[in-house]
Formats: sequence, structure tokens, C-alpha cells
Amino acid sequence: MKFNNKYVLVPRVEGADRKSFFAVAESPNGIDHFRFWDFPVVMPETDEPDTNIYDMRIIQHEDGWLYGLFCAERKDPSAPLGDQTSAIAQCGIARTKDLLHWERLDDLKTPSPQQRNVVLHPEFVKGQYAFYTRPQDSFLEAGKGGGIGFGLSSSIEHAVITEEWIVDEKAYHTVYELKNGLGPAPLKTAHGWLHLAHGVRNTAAGLRYVLYLFMTDLEDLTKVIYKPGGYFLAPEGEERIGDVSNVVFSNGWIADDDGTVYIYYASSDTRMHVAVSSIDRLIDYVMNNPADGFSSAQSLNTLTAIIKKNKGYESSAAKFSLGKTGQ
Ligand code: BGC
Repeated sequence: MKFNNKYVLVPRVEGADRKSFFAVAESPNGIDHFRFWDFPVVMPETDEPDTNIYDMRIIQHEDGWLYGLFCAERKDPSAPLGDQTSAIAQCGIARTKDLLHWERLDDLKTPSPQQRNVVLHPEFVKGQYAFYTRPQDSFLEAGKGGGIGFGLSSSIEHAVITEEWIVDEKAYHTVYELKNGLGPAPLKTAHGWLHLAHGVRNTAAGLRYVLYLFMTDLEDLTKVIYKPGGYFLAPEGEERIGDVSNVVFSNGWIADDDGTVYIYYASSDTRMHVAVSSIDRLIDYVMNNPADGFSSAQSLNTLTAIIKKNKGYESSAAKFSLGKTGQ
């Protein structure tokens, strides 16, 4: 985010001992010369100590606080003897005014046994705190749950969501077939809330994480109004190789005053990148790219219509559905 006129990131840092933590890095221009502050973020714990903390989303909320929502992971106490992998992921919440001193609040409570990729909406909704969630059945599998959810809580100190609505579901044979989750807090535009999310599918070479964009209604935050098919950004070249290969993952973007958007993403859990775009270009992308037709035949229809239009075969409007959903 932009903080005291600097471009500030709070990336997930992972030590050689596999423990993740947060550290603040700042840059004068958002693109390079990032320098970490001297000390990492010392995150207070709740009564139930975390084993690992990662993937913070920083939200500048209209209540005046900066919130950090992150994944707080602990070993599953009901894991059978010898099972060293079963864990419970929950959404940790902390707030600060200066990024130095953090107040840890209660973990978010929801109807789902596991939560990751939880993001706070920057504005109040019906006078309540609004959260984007990612309910899931078990630690690694989204299972029959999953999708990007949405819920409200009257309190942020003791946040409880009693009802979750699914905003953006997983779907068969898409880039978000196995699981998906929101990236940073959405950007408010004249046309809707612009969202950046990650989608995961399984392949013979393991999981593949890509990023995609969609837009929700300004009034009804649970209604997706535009969603181009496929990915917006996928790992390429050296981005494909690292600690966890074939992954791009994003928790942050900055919309600058002049409309420039800096999209911060990590590749293969190893390095940070920034992609530079603008609000106008991202809106153009999200509103004017074809939606997923969910079959090869539909994709071919879309391609044929675009080719015909470009070649002038049909002067009338091409018959493909744009990113617009629900029509
Ligand atoms: C983690 C991300 C990581 C991704 C790929 C997710 O479960 O939350 O931090 O980039 O897995 O390893």
C-alpha cells in the first residue's frame, strides 16, 4: 500500500526453518529499491499460539485502522499419532496505525472448519465489517466447500460470521477447478469492485497456481458482473521454478493517484515481482474479454466469432458473450 508517501509491502518471508513471518519493505517508486525495515513484524499471539503465519492482506479500512488479515496455522489436535501434516488454518486478524506496533484481535470465526485467503472489505457494508472468505473442508483440500465466500460481522475485535455466501465458485475444467481464493482487497472503480484472485488446478506436474480477475456489483458485493475466462497472469520462464514451482500468488496491489496499478505477485514461493498496469486497462480487460464457455466447442465459437469480426466477415456484432456474466 501507499504509506507516508512510500510504496510499502508486507510480504510473507520464509526462513530456512520453514517458519513464515512478515516484514515491511519500502520503495520510493513501487517498482525497485525496496528495502526491508531493520526488524520483522513482531506479531502478538492469541491464547492459542500459531505454528506458522503467512499471506497477509493489508487493508486500509474506513474505520481508520490498517488491518492485517493472515493465515494462522496450527497442528490439528485431533490428528492421529504419527500424522505430522494435518493442520488447521484460520484467519488471524491484527491492526496497526504505523506497521510497527500490532494489536492482535481474535481469529475470525465462521461456519467453516478451515479458513485461508480471508480479506477485509475496505468499507462498512450495512454498518458491519465485511469479509471475503474461502471456506474449505480440510487443510489442503477445498473439498465440497471452497469458492470465494462473503460474510458480515458486527465486531472486528471478536469477528464472527454466521452466514457465508459464495461469490465465485470453483468450476470443473477451469483454471480454478481445485481451489480459488481472493488476493488483495478489491479496488473500487466506476463500474464495480475489481478483484484479483488465484486459481489452482491439479496437473501431472503438480498444482498450478495462476491469477485471474473479476468484477462485482457496486451495490451487491456478492454478485459477479464480469469475469473473463482463463487466467490473467500465469507463471512464465524463471517464474515457474522455485521452492514450490509453477505458482504465482498475489496478496497486494496499489492503485496510485494517477490511475497506475502496481500488482505485486510472488513466483514459485521464492521471489516477488511487480506488474504495472492501470485502472482503465484492467477495467477494459475485465469487461471486454470473453467469459469461459466451459467447453472446447464454446471456446471455438468465441474464437471463430472474434476472427470473423477481425476479418470483416460479419459486420454485425460478433456473437460471443463478453466477460459479462449472468446473461
Ligand atoms: C499458500 C501460498 C503459497 C501457495 C503455493 C498456498 O496455500 O497460502 O502462500 O504461495 O500455497 O505454495
